[in-house]
Order: sequence, then C-alpha cells, then structure tokens
Amino acid sequence: MKVLILNQAAVRRVLPMGACIELMSHTLAALARGETFQPLRNITRLPDGKGALGLMPGYLIKSGALGVKVLSIFHANHGTKYDSHQGAVLLFEGEHGSLQAILDASSVTAIRTAAVSALATRLLSREDASELAILGAGVQAITHAEAMCAVRPIRRLRVWTRTPKHAQEFARQSAKKLGIIAVAAATAESAVRGADIVCTVTASKEPVLEGSWLTPGMHINAVGSSVPSSRELDVEAVRRARLFVDRRESTMHEGGDFLAAKKEGAIGDDHIRGEIGEIVAGRVKGRGTADEITLFKSLGLAIEDVASAQFAFARAKKLRTGQWVEFGGEKFDWGKPVKKKTTKRRKK
Ligand code: NDP
Repeated sequence: MKVLILNQAAVRRVLPMGACIELMSHTLAALARGETFQPLRNITRLPDGKGALGLMPGYLIKSGALGVKVLSIFHANHGTKYDSHQGAVLLFEGEHGSLQAILDASSVTAIRTAAVSALATRLLSREDASELAILGAGVQAITHAEAMCAVRPIRRLRVWTRTPKHAQEFARQSAKKLGIIAVAAATAESAVRGADIVCTVTASKEPVLEGSWLTPGMHINAVGSSVPSSRELDVEAVRRARLFVDRRESTMHEGGDFLAAKKEGAIGDDHIRGEIGEIVAGRVKGRGTADEITLFKSLGLAIEDVASAQFAFARAKKLRTGQWVEFGGEKFDWGKPVKKKTTKRRKK
C-alpha cells in the first residue's frame, strides 16, 4: 500500500493559516457536540530532564479522521538549527485502519496552535483590537503573529523575550513579512501595557505575565505552558480574566496557570466560563462587554492535529504534493517460499 509523506515545506503549502482557522472552528465545535474521542496525552519524561516524548491519539467520528501525533519536546533546541518540537502525525483511514499519511509534526503544531488562538481571538477580543504584544520569540511567536493579523486589524506589535537579540530579530522579520510596525520591548511589562491582544508563547515555567499589567478590554492567549508544573501567568492575571479553554478536562489536569490559581484558592473550577468550541456551537457566550478582560488558555489537543492531517492529506492529493512510498498495509503472511538448497550426492 502507498503512504503519503508530507514534510515541512509540503505541510506549509497545503495547510494555510486562513483555512486552518476555519478547520479548527469546525473541529472544536465537534468536540463541544461530543463527536470526538481523545484521551489525555501521555508524556514520557527523560530522567535527565533533557526532554520528553508526547503521544496524542485522537478520532473525529463524523469525518472519520483517526490519527496520532508523536512529538519530542527539547526546549534547549531553541536558538539551534533544531526545532524544540519534532516528530510526526500519523493519519489512518477509519474503514480498515490503514496508514494513509505521515506529516511533519513541527509544522502541523506551529500552524494549528496559532490557528486555534486566532479562532479564540476572533471570538473573544474586541473587533477593533490593533495593538499586539507577544511574549516569546520562538516558532509559536512566528505563527501567532501571522494568525493574529489574519483575524484582527493589527497595526503594531511589541515583542519581548529573554534574549534581547531574539526579540530584535523577531521584530525585524515581523515588520518585513507582515507589513506592520514591530518593535522589541525592553521588558515584558512594557510590551503588554496598552496592548489589545497579548500572546504568551514562552517555554518559561514561571510567570512572565502579571495581572497588575492587564487593562480593561484586553484579550490574552496563554499558549506556552502545557503541563501542571509550569505557568506563564501569575494568579492575579488568571483571577482577573474571564477564562475560556480548549477543553475543560485537559485544563483541570494539565493547565499549570489554572491549577496554580486554584491551588491558592483564588479561583474554583467554575472560573472556566466555557470551551472555545462551545462558543462556536452557540452554547456559551463569548465576550460580554467591551471592558472585560478575556483569557484563552490553550493546551493543544490531538483532534486539532488529526483534523489538520486529514485536511492536509486531502489537499496534498489534489495539489499532487508530497512523496508516496510503498509502506505496509498488506496482511503479514508466510512470505515467499524459501528454496531449499539441494546438495547433489556425488556418484561414487
Ligand atoms: P521555541 O523553543 O521555538 O521558543 C521558546 C521561546 O520561549 C523563546 O522565545 C525563549 O526565549 C522563550 N523562553 C524559554 N525559556 C524561557 C524562560 N525561562 N523565560 C522566558 N522565556 C523563555 O518554542 P515554541 O515557540 O515552539 O513553543 C513555545 C511554548 O509553547 C513552549 O513551552 C511549548 O511547549 C508551547 N507549545 C504549546 C502548544 C499548545 O498547543 N498550547 C503547542 C506547541 C508549543 P529566548 O528567545 O530568550 O531563548
């Protein structure tokens, strides 16, 4: 059987940001309607603390998209030629369970995560939001800058990260690629103050965003922390905001920002106003007034990867992109008969 391989360049071609935002809207609405299956992700941490291996299986009942993302996470890769998130999304068909495609997971993760934040921003931020602040200047910062510009009339970007030269380079690239005014901020606070939209996309374990910096009407996408032991927002930031999530169950198990605020007694489970998909499905109200501070906590879901893989696979076939390889599928059997070596007896 043939399997399609989609590398980073191919995934970029077949999974454009605009299309992915609409796809994430349908996918998260399906989650809200109970039309998906996905266990909590499984993470194997290396004992030396160098990195981890995550396993994220998921299934969408209506579209039949079935797959799994296998991703290594090595944060120290930032600033080297290696991505800090590497691996593959394996897409299977739902009829016989045959493997259909293998996609580069770095690019799927980069695009689908920002697309989900863009969806949340479209649902929760003020329509006239034009001042963007980004904390962090890695891969997610790149796709988030693009995604925010896709849903709001962004005019100015302030970026802050630990390493000033990374922020300067990021600002230079953003201005060039997105045609906006982009500057490096000296501190996280000076980046955030006065922004309409804030995206936190750092690998920090400790808060980089403080509640005292938030102003009425702000919308925040908190993306960087995906495990209970790390957080990017302090307790006050979580407490002050109306909180929306990608999935309640994941937030209660994996959402470090949420769990820390809950542990301190600042909030309870009812602080979660709803899931993004519930807003899309019309079950939960998004932003109420222009002055509210809204917060979207993103953890990343397997169904986002699987839906992206199914979409990318279909589009790649149409555009004749990627590389087909002969790979498995047929039933394992006895194999070809082995020819017995016959040793002729010499006649005496
Ligand atoms: P990168 O490695 O490309 O970039 C990491 C960024 O975080 C860099 O700008 C780096 O700063 C900054 N950073 C690292 N450590 C610290 C720290 N201690 N304090 C402040 N900033 C720090 O990673 P990605 O952009 O791919 O991912 C960013 C985060 O988002 C990660 O934590 C990742 O696990 C998470 N993520 C979440 C997803 C979701 O679905 N919610 C999906 C994918 C990723 P500097 O430039 O100074 O080195």
